[in-house]
Amino acid sequence: MSKFTGFAMKKLNEVGWVEKEKPECGRRDAIIKPLALSPCTSDIHTVWEGAIGDRKDMILGHEAVGIIEEVGPDVKDFKVGDEVIVPAITPDWEDEAAQRGFPSQTTGALGGWKFSNFKDGVFGEVFHVNLADANLAKLPENVKPETAVMLSDMFSTGMMGSENAKIKLGSTVAVIGIGPVGLCSVAGARNLGAGRIFAVGTRPNCVKVAKEYGATDIVNYKEGPIDEQIMEATDNEGVDAVIIAGGNMETWKQAVKMAKAGSVISNVNYLSGADIVPLPREAWGCGMANIDIATGLCPGGRVRMERLASLIEYGRINPDSLITHKFKGFDKVEDALMLMKDKPKDLIKPVVLCD
Ligand code: NDP
Ligand code: ZN
Repeated sequence: MSKFTGFAMKKLNEVGWVEKEKPECGRRDAIIKPLALSPCTSDIHTVWEGAIGDRKDMILGHEAVGIIEEVGPDVKDFKVGDEVIVPAITPDWEDEAAQRGFPSQTTGALGGWKFSNFKDGVFGEVFHVNLADANLAKLPENVKPETAVMLSDMFSTGMMGSENAKIKLGSTVAVIGIGPVGLCSVAGARNLGAGRIFAVGTRPNCVKVAKEYGATDIVNYKEGPIDEQIMEATDNEGVDAVIIAGGNMETWKQAVKMAKAGSVISNVNYLSGADIVPLPREAWGCGMANIDIATGLCPGGRVRMERLASLIEYGRINPDSLITHKFKGFDKVEDALMLMKDKPKDLIKPVVLCD
């Protein structure tokens, strides 16, 4: 095959199929054929909200499990035919930002995010992965591709939200937004030892999975300001950690108002729709109340994927609960992406099983 097809952002607000030359492998790289794919809300922000600016004929998608079709001569640990989990974020591990401890930000802010940002994504019949030994993880034999594809971005990002929130044993946590990312933050909070976990959202499927993943209280943002609801439920104490995984700019004000002095607000939401993020000065202790704000891009790389896979293997997480819609056949990525755009009420995550 010298040419392949993929589903692309043709320009802002427009998607479609494109044909491209097969990518060159590179000595330390791999070419992968997808086995399972999933679209992300971020793809929607990218195409229809212009969140990272315009792109031309860029293949979308960054969540994949695949089978190796080609490896470069310097790849040591992987061979053709291996089934692998592909992280959404594939850092340049020799870059100085990786050495400082921020691999997702290599070569500049958000630079570890290559697929469907500044390089063709995974919604192609084949796609290229840089630094295969550092960026791929073997798919464990007892884990299905559709289950593991939930790790590439959803569990990695959502659980990072909880890790960055510095959750302590028994602490009270609010997770704002319980789409797939927020649900994984709930699972992260539970695994890190949170006591009470508030989960903010309304879709019945999401509420059900939030409870399964560890939420103790559900808060409906359509029934009044969530800071007021959570302050009332905690006798005006507030929470030790807030994870923002949905909402809008108003959410930031609410997050600060429900955060205790000495707490962390951890954002994983991909902000769009306004240029300034508002913080309520007084509730924020005039900037002196140790209400810290943490941000982060999904962690990528091999060790991260191996560790998340271990959470599946040892029964700590059940990603299958996120999968509400299954499509069969690679050409269905278009339908899966449009479903993600339309967000019907019963959707959490769609998966495409390629054949
Ligand atoms: P969803 O759109 O599926 O979920 C959003 C959630 O926010 C839903 O639970 C929704 O509630 C809730 N919500 C909507 N409006 C409000 C409001 N006003 N107040 C409180 N909650 C509200 O998104 P995903 O879970 O797929 O993704 C979440 C975010 O994470 C996206 O912005 C995505 O781009 C980003 N992301 C970031 C990454 C990173 O590396 N940092 C990586 C991947 C994704 P309801 O139940 O009513 O729908
Ligand atoms: Zn994503």
